[in-house]
Amino acid sequence: MSYTKLNRSAATLTKNRTEGSVSPFSGMCVTCVDGCIGMCEIGKSAYRGHEVLYPQPFGLITSASEKDYPVDLSHFTILGTAVGAHGVKADPDHATFPAVNLETKIGRDKGLKLKVPFVVPGMGSTNVAKNSWPELGAGVALSGGILTVGENVCAMDNESEIKDGRVLRSPDMEMRINSFKNWYDGYGTVVVQANVEDTRLGVQEYAMEKLGVDVVELKWGQGAKDIGGEVKLKSLEKAQRLYKTGYIVLPNPTDPDVIKAFEKGAFKEFERHSRLGMVEWESFEARVKELRDRGAKYIFLK
Ligand code: SF4
Repeated sequence: MSYTKLNRSAATLTKNRTEGSVSPFSGMCVTCVDGCIGMCEIGKSAYRGHEVLYPQPFGLITSASEKDYPVDLSHFTILGTAVGAHGVKADPDHATFPAVNLETKIGRDKGLKLKVPFVVPGMGSTNVAKNSWPELGAGVALSGGILTVGENVCAMDNESEIKDGRVLRSPDMEMRINSFKNWYDGYGTVVVQANVEDTRLGVQEYAMEKLGVDVVELKWGQGAKDIGGEVKLKSLEKAQRLYKTGYIVLPNPTDPDVIKAFEKGAFKEFERHSRLGMVEWESFEARVKELRDRGAKYIFLK
């Protein structure tokens, strides 16, 4: 029995032709017919290539797995009880629902005060994060949690100023930091994460020196997206700018044949990939020291 829905998913905009009769082993229709336009992942990837690896439509969605996990929390019945009181006077007039307090302190000197022990993890340059950021920043600040600005924000910002390979200014990064800071009242913090490209561009130095950030995050490897950070670029100019900034952009947007093909409409999007941060103790230690010397009070590791 397969726990995975093979060969078709709303996330890749694919489906089977014979939806009621699908081979559980391959996920293919029980009769794969000559002349099918190729609606499934196998069929679509035959003519769209590795594009089918990525959730669609790009920039408008966040996506989840359709796998049936053999055991999940719904298989347990948790019969809770509330007896006595902890952290508050054991008195019915004091141990009340609104008196619940989740405040905590973290960091090596316990200097980061949180109202709730929640971290909103690194959401980076994608539009789906950017479009909702003002509300996200305000919400996390009011809740007293931790907000993490993810990868590639400065480089993807069309308005950013980059000189000699270093970021001088990024209005998008400013907006993300200020969305939190404008509502900050002593609890929680805003963290700026960096991947390989951000580190080369000096994103954390910019955030600390110009935007008053004092908590930063380093990354080992890649978490949610095992293919590495990847976005689609609809404009040739942006593809060329990011290629020159040091990103891996496919196909090569400076190749005259590729430019001609793009202008003729042979393909409509470039892919921008970021590099994988390696797990190396010495370079990690050196970077932590460098960041502390530049003013980082707390350094997170993802
Ligand atoms: S290509 Fe074959 S398996 Fe895929 S949808 Fe068409 S008939 Fe089904």
